[in-house]
Amino acid sequence: MALIVQKYGGTSVGSVDRIQAVAQRVVKTVNAGNSVVVVVSAMGKTTDGLVKLAHEISSNPSRREMDMLLSTGEQVTIALLSMALQELGQPAVSLTGAQVGIVTEAHHTRARILNIATDRLERHLKKGEVIVVAGFQGVSRTEDLEITTLGRGGSDTSAVALAAALKADFCEIYTDVPGILTADPRLVEDAQLMTDITCDEMLELASLGAKVLHPRAVEIARNYGMPLVVRSSWTDDPGTWVTSPMPQPRSLEGLEIARPVDAVEFDTDQAKVALLRVPDRPGIASRLFGEIATQSLDVDLVIQSIHEGNTNDIAFTVTKNSLNRAEAVANAIIPALTAHQPSSLEKAPEVMVEPQIAKVTIAGAGMIGRPGVAARMFSTLANAGINIQMISTSEVKVSCVIDQRDYENAIVTLCHAFDITQSAIDRQPKPQETLTAQNPVRGVALDLKQAQLAIRHVPDRPGMAAKIFQLLADNNVSVDMIIQSQRCRVLNGVMTRDIAFTVAQMDAETARTVLETAAPELGCGEIVVDMAIAKVSIVGSEMVGQPGVAARMFDALYQQKINIQMIATSEIKVSCVVAEDQGVMALRAIHHAFGLAGTQTIQVSA
Ligand code: ADP
Ligand code: ASP
Ligand code: MG
Repeated sequence: MALIVQKYGGTSVGSVDRIQAVAQRVVKTVNAGNSVVVVVSAMGKTTDGLVKLAHEISSNPSRREMDMLLSTGEQVTIALLSMALQELGQPAVSLTGAQVGIVTEAHHTRARILNIATDRLERHLKKGEVIVVAGFQGVSRTEDLEITTLGRGGSDTSAVALAAALKADFCEIYTDVPGILTADPRLVEDAQLMTDITCDEMLELASLGAKVLHPRAVEIARNYGMPLVVRSSWTDDPGTWVTSPMPQPRSLEGLEIARPVDAVEFDTDQAKVALLRVPDRPGIASRLFGEIATQSLDVDLVIQSIHEGNTNDIAFTVTKNSLNRAEAVANAIIPALTAHQPSSLEKAPEVMVEPQIAKVTIAGAGMIGRPGVAARMFSTLANAGINIQMISTSEVKVSCVIDQRDYENAIVTLCHAFDITQSAIDRQPKPQETLTAQNPVRGVALDLKQAQLAIRHVPDRPGMAAKIFQLLADNNVSVDMIIQSQRCRVLNGVMTRDIAFTVAQMDAETARTVLETAAPELGCGEIVVDMAIAKVSIVGSEMVGQPGVAARMFDALYQQKINIQMIATSEIKVSCVVAEDQGVMALRAIHHAFGLAGTQTIQVSA
């Protein structure tokens, strides 16, 4: 007999008929000899409707009242589903988040779960009752027991957290698609179902726009090793399993906030090549990385900055023994770049190399929506007097490229700051031969809800990234795709660089205000915001050390004449910022380019 947590999303409980169908499935699971805890969302588009109502009354409703309002949606569903179960002769009880004891931080509208009391749940389970829990909500630990919500889409997180707290055998997420697909089937018709995906890959996909799972749900599954499956509530098909490696044992106290970082890694076999003042037109990244791929050079990070005037910088890191050849490739394309636009450029494009660099990385699932973690890494390095040359972020890692002379110092201070007692891990890329079997790209995602911010003329000295991202973190703004321009500009005798990053659109104004207020003191220039962007990404844990993967993505965009505004990579993803109105076209082009399309018909039940 197993203990199973099942979660049903809005569409799956969108009508009385659907609620009755869910009740039938739950009873079937119980009759097969299992104990069942059910987590439900609000019916259909109820939450959207409530948000709309609030905005008809106030353009800026208080977060506390929003939680009070939105949490009602789930309360309707739990009562109706319990009644439906009782009608089928199945003893059942509905419980709100507060009644269960899902205790969260006091941050309204985006609270994290601190712990879950299991005694009441265990009592009901012992009596043979099915427990129907309201997803997405909790109660603050404060004296006033405030109702909180976990953020849109957060019922998935409630379900996996409950499964972890109860040490359930597994957690099933029932939704309106047959599982996790290579792309959102509403945007890419020929997307295909995956039978399984790793937690790390799913964390990236979810955070980069695939809303089939709440990223924090995946984070909890990874941290506690909770088996997780996404399935259709309309069929008995097996769905997609999200697999996690054996986790280090961890306490249930501080469930979503304890130990965001569980390892410090480094790689000293790195060198940097930067191409400065590249004309801003489609096809250049494609050409550069196409050539690098032809030569089978091992590229790790790729970063393309926002453009200044009408030129970009592209920087990438390679293993040290690839440096000479990579530099030659970069030099070889310079004539072609100048040939097209000689007069419009202030200075000609140029190649810059940095042979002695190292990459230090903090890794762990627990950084999502916690901007303070990356900020702490930057300030730790700054306090040790270490300048950061490049930054690469993913959902499970933040990496900084630094001078190789600083790497031992960096590791010691980072291990100390994040309380890592095991020695740091030397991460060498996997040898290429082992990687050819599987498609290196598992899925693609599109995020249309991002904005791009650029800070001009940031003084180039240790501590600037730390100050900027700490300020944003203090205001609860999470950033992604942090990019520093490679070229320096001397202003009043001070070397400066531009720093650009992406944030959720809803945080863009806060970010702008915070930075504009701080700019004079920090000695930075203007803050530029672009809301009309789209971020397209490819994800796959087998892409590391395969230079042809990024090249193929850039080429697919070039074939559609799509200009790339920013590039950022990590070991398991490549993201490009493009114009908002080209986002869907870009998504379809890259899905096709990696041969992810198939002929299997995917049923979307809504
Ligand atoms: P629920 O209400 O069940 O939580 P959601 O709307 O939150 O459902 O998530 C399911 C939706 O996620 C699907 O209908 C689909 O449009 C979207 N989606 C986005 N990316 C993917 C993907 N890679 N695989 C499957 N579904 C995806
Ligand atoms: N009802 C909430 C929402 O629509 C939570 C969820 O469905 O996961 O965001
Ligand atoms: Mg959802």
